[in-house]
Amino acid sequence: MFQSKLLVFFTLFAVLILSACGESNTPMTAVAAENKTYKWKLVTTWPPNFPIFQEGVERFAEDVKTLSNGRLNIKVFAGGELVPALQAFDAVSQGTVEMSHGAAYYWAGKIPAGQFFTAVPFGMNAQGMNSWLYAGGGLELWRELYKPHNLVPFPMGNTGVQMGGWFNKKIDAIADLKGLKMRIPGLGGKVFAKAGGNPVLMAGGEIYTALDRGTIDATEWVGPFHDERLGLYRAAKYYYYPGWHEPGPVLELNVNSKAWASLSPDLQKTIEIAAAATNLWMLAQFEAKNLEALVTLKDKYNVQVLAFPDEVIAELRRLSSVVLEEEAAKDPDFKRIYQAYKTFADNNDRWNELSEAAYAKARNR
Ligand code: CA
Repeated sequence: MFQSKLLVFFTLFAVLILSACGESNTPMTAVAAENKTYKWKLVTTWPPNFPIFQEGVERFAEDVKTLSNGRLNIKVFAGGELVPALQAFDAVSQGTVEMSHGAAYYWAGKIPAGQFFTAVPFGMNAQGMNSWLYAGGGLELWRELYKPHNLVPFPMGNTGVQMGGWFNKKIDAIADLKGLKMRIPGLGGKVFAKAGGNPVLMAGGEIYTALDRGTIDATEWVGPFHDERLGLYRAAKYYYYPGWHEPGPVLELNVNSKAWASLSPDLQKTIEIAAAATNLWMLAQFEAKNLEALVTLKDKYNVQVLAFPDEVIAELRRLSSVVLEEEAAKDPDFKRIYQAYKTFADNNDRWNELSEAAYAKARNR
């Protein structure tokens, strides 16, 4: 103890002497930047105390504080606490706050191509998305797309494959989707409409009541863990899989580009590594909590868990390509990123066929 204090004292002493003599290899401006403390704000799109989502962001802020030795303090606000949830993107873009957490497909009205950085129907799962973003050029495309909005995005969380949703009637054929009123957002909703369904947009807090009262016939939400918490098993009989519309949605951390540029390289690295760690933490949480909740839903609440029939999946898959092609024809960025995404996803499928898919089959033999 005494020795370590002595060591700290001598180190400080040496630094002071070296600085005074101008012998230090580190310029004074860099020393000043390294000692500067920052108080940043991060707004999320999630409700307060929302498990895994909001929880993960709060853990991220703690990690950054610890890793930076208290130099970078991030105060986290849930959706609506500082700015309305769906204004998080604008708040960071305009520099009102330094950071936000949400999902790129929330801004589809503004940046349709951003949807490739969350999830697209029949697109890549979490493993595929991580490969594309970290090692296949995806993140570079994402940064380029967000640059005009003064944002530096990072992948920070993934729900894994979601569930297909809750229904009160069996889906035996594509015709069973006709006229069905279902809460299903984004591109998945567009595909659902092409299949004859009636997609409805609705915030998480309203879903249970709407389904229970029959205002909607069906809904998707997240996966067993979050769906159980919402009590959806009390409002619908059948729980369908897989979540073809959201196969591995990526959650995003956005940093205002000017705020980002003001940080020393070590603090930038701290954010990058803490975001990657949170990305892994959230996916692991989803997987572990979903498998536990699935058992509860099946064994305790006797939920009928059913697979969409092959015929229904094949038709939804065909319609998904139609929707993606239509969107690509409307927007050059969408078209460009769709091509890059598709090339990677197609090759990923070919590799997956011999790796993950073949192994899953082998295990079940
Ligand atoms: Ca969902």
